Amino acid sequence: MYLVALSKEKSFDHHAIFGKIVEDLKEIETVGVEFAPGQFIKGSLVFITGDNLGSHGLGGFTENFSTSQYFCRYCLITKNSFESDDGIFEIYPERTIDSYKKVINKLDKKRRPRIRIKKVIKKKPLIIQGIKFDSAFNKLGFYHVCLPGLPPCLGHDVFEGVLAYDGKLFLDYLVEQDWFSYKQLNKRIEIFKYSPEDQRDKLCSVSPKSQKLSGAACQLWTFIRLLPLLIHDKIDDDENPVWKCILLLSEIIEIICAPAIHETCIVYVHLLICEYIDLRRTLFPLKLLRRKHHYFKHYGELIRKFGPLMKSWTLRSESKHCFMKRAVRFSRNFINITKSLSIKHELYQCFVRSGGEIKSDIELKNTVKLNVGKYNEAIRQALAKFELCKETVDECHEIVKNGITYRNGDGLFISRSGYQYKIIVGKICIILYDFVEVYFVVEVLETEFIPYLGLYKLGKATGYQCLKINQLISLENLHIYNTKSFSCVKPKYGLVEQSLHEY
Ligand SMILES: [Zn+2]
Repeated sequence: MYLVALSKEKSFDHHAIFGKIVEDLKEIETVGVEFAPGQFIKGSLVFITGDNLGSHGLGGFTENFSTSQYFCRYCLITKNSFESDDGIFEIYPERTIDSYKKVINKLDKKRRPRIRIKKVIKKKPLIIQGIKFDSAFNKLGFYHVCLPGLPPCLGHDVFEGVLAYDGKLFLDYLVEQDWFSYKQLNKRIEIFKYSPEDQRDKLCSVSPKSQKLSGAACQLWTFIRLLPLLIHDKIDDDENPVWKCILLLSEIIEIICAPAIHETCIVYVHLLICEYIDLRRTLFPLKLLRRKHHYFKHYGELIRKFGPLMKSWTLRSESKHCFMKRAVRFSRNFINITKSLSIKHELYQCFVRSGGEIKSDIELKNTVKLNVGKYNEAIRQALAKFELCKETVDECHEIVKNGITYRNGDGLFISRSGYQYKIIVGKICIILYDFVEVYFVVEVLETEFIPYLGLYKLGKATGYQCLKINQLISLENLHIYNTKSFSCVKPKYGLVEQSLHEY
């Protein structure tokens, strides 16, 4: 991730700073970048990520979400209609480049100075349909903020918005219904045996008096995913509508966080989101819906326009802020801080470019040469499929491939017949690497989807299978969680990269 510009908030000026970036982008659009003598590659801006406040500021939209009538950068919903009965379910005209331009023309006309006015009265800033000014980025040839060009951040909207507040409402209700107490829940959060990956984003304990769940986006994600495991024995009524609402939100999150989503699943997730919002509103009529519930409703169409939204969330950029924060802390010099930070950042980039942080895309731990003789006949037969009984093959307990760690004992999705239907999980017994491909020998387990817990329960082993890593139906490594009564896996991502019609 590169640094384009740094500015202090107090000296920030939209056209002065973004105007300069747009000049550079225009050159890339028209002249291009010379990558070899006389050979140019042209490029253009696709979208700009940000949280709602940042994106609205950049797009020329109002930054006042609570009192402004037009608070959405994708459609022309108004505050009054949003707050009316069923207002959230109505369909509003979407913002287009044309509608945006018309507003800018109106703003220009109103702002033209009138000679006869003598007194200068300080007026409120002029805003029409939630637009304040024309964004500098609209000068580009292939980009416009209403194309759309400002994707949502699901970390802010869904995890820290919808989930943090609604999740607390749901828990308050379940505690009221005596399913469990906050003390019991917090105790379980504390003693639960998390996988190494989940341990990093372990849940925060829940404060009974707080209005929302605490924790960063990834911790809230772990929370909704593992909640059924934490309280599975406390579920009094699996038809309870609030519990159904929790499962619905959990399923939506699984789908919208998936790294690949087939077009046919977009309509499905849109229906789930509408069902969720309706149920949430019906169950807690006195707790008004938030603006973020409206943004959430756009997610289906936004996935179609931007692709999987996980790829445009801002949390990756926020982790980049850590570098700047650290650099400020250590420099202890605030004279021309933006210049100091830019220099430090570029030096760091030099280090990265020179290979300082290059990680191999494959790492093996505890490697030994494969000794087929020590395995039983069933495993030997599975290995024979790929003729792996050679001395050149390495066997290891743990392998990191493209940033994902697979360990012996973890689960993998190996086959399926439909969405959440006839999914088969294999438990990794042997990990092999022949210096070209990664192979897994898995113990095939009876697998059953449990709708009232939203997870896959694992049964007895039915045989062995050997697979190449690219034969898996999902690259996700699944930690096998064991409770007193069952073993299960609870994936992070929904299996939605294939058409729903193919089943
Ligand atoms: Zn909208």
